[in-house]
Amino acid sequence: MTPNHRSKSFFTTLLFSLLSFAVFGGKGSTVKFTVSMENPEQQIFHVVMEFEAKQTSDAVLKMPMWSPGYYQLMDYAEKLDNLVATDANNKILQWEKKGKNSWIIRNAKSKNIRVEYDIKADRQFVANSFLDEEHGYIVPTSVFLHLDGEIKRDAKVTVNPAKNWEDVATGLDVADASKHIFTATDFDVLYDSPILIGNLEELPAFEVNGIPHRFIGYKIGEFDRGKLMQDIKKVVEQASGLIGHIPYKHYTFLAIGPGRGGIEHLNSTTISFEGSEVNSEQGRIRMLSFIAHEYFHHYNVKRIRPIELGPFDYDKGNKTNMLWVSEGLTVYYEYIILNRGGMMSREQVLDTFKGSIKSYETQPGRLFQSLAQASAETWSDGPFGRTEDEFNKTISYYAKGPVVGLILDFLIRHETGNKKSLDDVMRTLYNKYYIKENRGFTEAELKQVCENIAGVSLNEFFDYIYTTQELDYKKYFNYAGLDIDINPVEVPGAYLGINTKMNGDSLVITSVDYDSPAWKAGVRKGGIVLNVNGTTPSQNSIGAIIPDKKAGDILVLDILKSGVSKPTTIALGTKLQRSFDIKPVKNPTELQSAILNNWCR
Ligand SMILES: [Zn+2]
Repeated sequence: MTPNHRSKSFFTTLLFSLLSFAVFGGKGSTVKFTVSMENPEQQIFHVVMEFEAKQTSDAVLKMPMWSPGYYQLMDYAEKLDNLVATDANNKILQWEKKGKNSWIIRNAKSKNIRVEYDIKADRQFVANSFLDEEHGYIVPTSVFLHLDGEIKRDAKVTVNPAKNWEDVATGLDVADASKHIFTATDFDVLYDSPILIGNLEELPAFEVNGIPHRFIGYKIGEFDRGKLMQDIKKVVEQASGLIGHIPYKHYTFLAIGPGRGGIEHLNSTTISFEGSEVNSEQGRIRMLSFIAHEYFHHYNVKRIRPIELGPFDYDKGNKTNMLWVSEGLTVYYEYIILNRGGMMSREQVLDTFKGSIKSYETQPGRLFQSLAQASAETWSDGPFGRTEDEFNKTISYYAKGPVVGLILDFLIRHETGNKKSLDDVMRTLYNKYYIKENRGFTEAELKQVCENIAGVSLNEFFDYIYTTQELDYKKYFNYAGLDIDINPVEVPGAYLGINTKMNGDSLVITSVDYDSPAWKAGVRKGGIVLNVNGTTPSQNSIGAIIPDKKAGDILVLDILKSGVSKPTTIALGTKLQRSFDIKPVKNPTELQSAILNNWCR
């Protein structure tokens, strides 16, 4: 279908081109890239892009504004410099920058247009390209330009590693391994395939269903390599067993070195990785649940996806209300996968949920923002919610998401006599919308699938998604024969509700608990405490809880704010706290036992 395929007569070629341009917009020929890094200490990737322009007018080149998987605008275009465009006769073409991320190459009518540019790669972060003396990491959305509106062109990438660097690892298909040449069927695939370069270590690969899984990394540290690969194999077996199908031909775990975070891709994932972490039991579970999370994403979000998350709008980002499914349920399945693979006990799983519930329940954001809102507003709030508010008014779908996942799973198991579970929802979404229809699902379709499987209306459950309705833990935990302690218990000492930090000689109020005695007295963050009951305060003299006072005691704080000092009288109170301890009920019914045992071993 590309102009490279020559037909026998001029007429058919012409007709074919006209037809394809008119009907399909034309896929266009291969876009070729060569990436070099001759002086890696300068942290610059040099890129040569070669393409055949449409024979009409200017060519518009674009750099994405974000990377799928990391839902924040990144402004990658700012790192591009020294752009030079030439035509087939080596004539330099004029260009101008338009907007934040477009370059218009004037009169790009020649067949072979060549564009060269530099990308500064000096910020080490999982969603940023990075280069130093020892290794390179390419986030393709930040390095490869595309022709505006021609994302469906295929691409060929040649990587020229720095001197003495041996290895190039990526999920892209290999055209020539010795020359580090790779191909992508279109730019969605290219943009979804990060590249790691350097002297890398590859651990012994394993197969699941005959499909190879590789682990390649930079500076992976000291740990039991065989054991880690056995554990990762169990993760892959459990996750793919749950869905019942593996959609890729090869999968690569790219360990990009110590740091934080990972990003999921179609047949690869980048993970920040420090091997020594897996040497402790806690560290091992943390690392394996992180790996299970990124791996399970190749189903949940890359293929089981909200309708808004594809095709991607690389200019603006794609807003969806359903990141509680894509992220929240992926967190939920981290623990389920580890438990089913024998890497995490039921007690450890329950303890993790207790942690998520506590973190959600102790933030006032739960009274102000629903899960759907947290999802849609992530583009402005950040992945974990806003931090600059007077008090916390946002929630994290990473905390509430897995908790509603647990509730939904118990609910479906209860309503179906333990014959169905959340697994059936995931499988149905995968088979119906990805395999059969090759598209994402709408919010209504998701609800419909859940209700069909549960066999009942789930309006009450979906209120937990679209409103700030308090979660009825007791009811749903009871379905699995579990009891959760939600009784408020008084914390010893008196409650003030102010958190402070010494800044030089000043005691600065860093935050005030929402609805605490201090909050009710009008104290807000940012003020400086000049004195407490007439004496100069130290770091230890006030805090959220004051151990040697009791409820009803009066505190007078002199607080300086905006150049004005004023005394504030606060009647101390009592702080109530819930433990959210989870334990099995006595004498469970047969159904309760079956649900618990089937859910978690
Ligand atoms: Zn995730």
